[in-house]
Order: sequence, then structure tokens, then C-alpha cells
Amino acid sequence: MSGFVFSEKPIEIASGDGVTVTDTNGTEYLDFGASYACTPVGHCHPEVVDAATSQLEDLMYVQASYPHAARTALYEQLSEAGPVDVDNVWLCNSGTEANEAALKFARHATGREKIVATKQGFHGRTMGALATTWKTKYKQGFEPLAGGVEFVDYGDIDAMREAIGEETAAVIIEPLQGEGGINPVSTEYLQAVRVATATNGTAMILDEIQTGLGRTGSLWAADNHRVVPDILTTAKGLGSGLPIGATLCRDWIAENCGNHGSTFSGGPVVSAAAGATLDVIEREGLPEHAAEVGAYLREELEERLGDDIREVRGDGLMIGIEVKRGSNRLLRDLAIDHQILALPAGRTVLRLLPPLTIEREHADAVVGAIEEVVE
Ligand SMILES: *Cc1c(COP(=O)(O)O)cnc(C)c1O
Repeated sequence: MSGFVFSEKPIEIASGDGVTVTDTNGTEYLDFGASYACTPVGHCHPEVVDAATSQLEDLMYVQASYPHAARTALYEQLSEAGPVDVDNVWLCNSGTEANEAALKFARHATGREKIVATKQGFHGRTMGALATTWKTKYKQGFEPLAGGVEFVDYGDIDAMREAIGEETAAVIIEPLQGEGGINPVSTEYLQAVRVATATNGTAMILDEIQTGLGRTGSLWAADNHRVVPDILTTAKGLGSGLPIGATLCRDWIAENCGNHGSTFSGGPVVSAAAGATLDVIEREGLPEHAAEVGAYLREELEERLGDDIREVRGDGLMIGIEVKRGSNRLLRDLAIDHQILALPAGRTVLRLLPPLTIEREHADAVVGAIEEVVE
């Protein structure tokens, strides 16, 4: 038996540097998928590599109940970086675990069961987070999942208001849906969700696993929309590709979160990598840079692709291009003919999640290549 679950692509990546990766034949690719947004500061950023390797040599691991400098520093950084008052930090190893903790904490803190999630939403693949994920294909054959979840149309504030009541523990929502097709919602909508949850004593969980860390032009999409949730989750690029996730909570959640734990919570090596990643994002002003290059990229895509595509959506460097045919063939042509890696989001959306360090010249190269493959 060899590997299963994933179907592998015909390109074997051997190394990465900044915005490019190189395969075993020496061919260089511009990485506009960043392996699911996992390299916000670029591949193998020297500062992140140094932080992780020097930690690796000193101490590979110590359990989270012993204080450790790298973990303590990361608690402080994340607590500082989170939206105002969302400053209690739980560390875990992935996005789905960050959401799993968020859902458990919200149920415990409210003493309620019901969870409201949104159609097309994606929150991970463990039994709890999966129960709040919309698509049937991810859930088929795995039921029964966690109960008490109701789905409402994303962006429909009346449906949301109707679903939230005094029995609702939490609403879990992405501020811009990623996996579901790069679907945006308005600031008014997210602010109204905030009001409806607060009024009912319901926890608002903002899943920023894909939108966070500067990708949408601010450190958090929550900042773009001036919304402060009760719980914010992050993962993906946090460790520049090393496995780490975090659940940031307000006091009322953290003070009554129940019994939770994880053997690997905030290991020294991943904590050092995450700390260095956050340092680089802040020092290099990557959120602002993502906003600027992202706006340029979206404009160029709209202008040059015009009628050949249906729509360009997104914020900062989280961009979806709704195409007229299936996206799989386009992705293949982009990789094989133009040495550009990107991602799908459903059958008809090409998704771009490049490192936040790309420059206009990279954007130009990608627009030119997409123009050719779409034609
Ligand atoms: C990727 C993703 C997850 C799941 O993260 P994993 O690390 O794969 O478990 C959850 N929510 C969103 C919005 C994501 O993009």
C-alpha cells in the first residue's frame, strides 16, 4: 500500500525560494497557490528557517504545561496581533483543530448546543468542524457528525437573524469564503452578524484560517470590516508551512472554556517559526503590500480577460476568477505550459493565493499566462 487520499500531480517539487518552487528536473514555477496559502512570507524565508533550525538544535519539544520562551513569545505576539480584546491564545496544529476548539469553547462558555454555519462554508474535516462545513462531498459516508448545526445562506442577514436565538452557542463564519469559491460579503452584513450574535449572547467565531495574516490587505479581514469577533481562528500560513493553528478568544470565552488539550500544543519549533513569520509580516508591511499588489492584479485581470471570464472576486491577494469552463484543464495548462501553480475553488473558479511578497512583475506574468490559457 502506498499513499492514498490525495491524487498526486505530475510535478515533484524539490525546493522553494521566495515566490518560486523548483521541481526535480530543475524547472522553476511561480507559486500562486502557495500550497493553500501556507507561505505568506515566501518559501524558506531565511529568518523563519533560522528561527526554526536554531530552536530545533536547542530543544525539539517540551509539553505545553512547562513554560518555554518561544511559546511564551508567540502567545504575546498573537495576543498583541489579534483584534482588540481577542487576546487569549490557544495553540494547536491545524485549521480544523483551531475551529474544533472554537466550537467546544463556545458551547462550554454559553452552555448551549446550537451552531449556525453558512452554505458554501469550509471549516475543516474533523467530526466537529466538518459538521459546520457545507459541501456534501466532504461529509458523505462519515455521518453522524456533531449535531445541532443549522446552515443559512451566506450574505443573507435576515436568514442569519432568524437562525440565531437564545439557544445558539455560536455562529461560525468566514469573512470571505475561500474553499467555497472566493465569495465575498459586505461589511454591513458582517457587522449585522456581530450585532445579532451579541444581542443573543452567542459567540461569533470568525474563521480567518485562509483570510488572515495579511492576505486580504489587513492583518485580519476583521479589520477591513471593523468587526471584533468573540473567537478568531488562524492556521495555514502561520508557521510558514510548519503545522500550527491558533484560537484567539475574548475573556468571557477563555474564562469558561472547559477542559481541552493537545499533546503538541505550541511546540517550540513551530512556535519559533510562527513568531518569525509574524515578525516578517509586520516588519515588511505585507498586509499593505498585499492590498496594493492585489488591487493591481485584480484590475489587470478584469481589464485584460474581459469577456473571456465571468468574474474576478476577492480582496488583497485572495483572488477568485470565475471561468466559463472547468478550472482543472486551465490549472494544468498554467502549470505545464507557463510554469505557474494555482488552485481551484470548486469546478469553475481559479484561485490565487500567492505569497504576500509578490511584485507587479509576477502579477503581470500570471495575468499574461491566464489570458493565453483562457483563450
Ligand atoms: C483550510 C481551511 C480550514 C482547515 O484547515 P486545515 O489546516 O486543513 O485543517 C478551515 N477553515 C478555512 C477557512 C480554511 O481555508
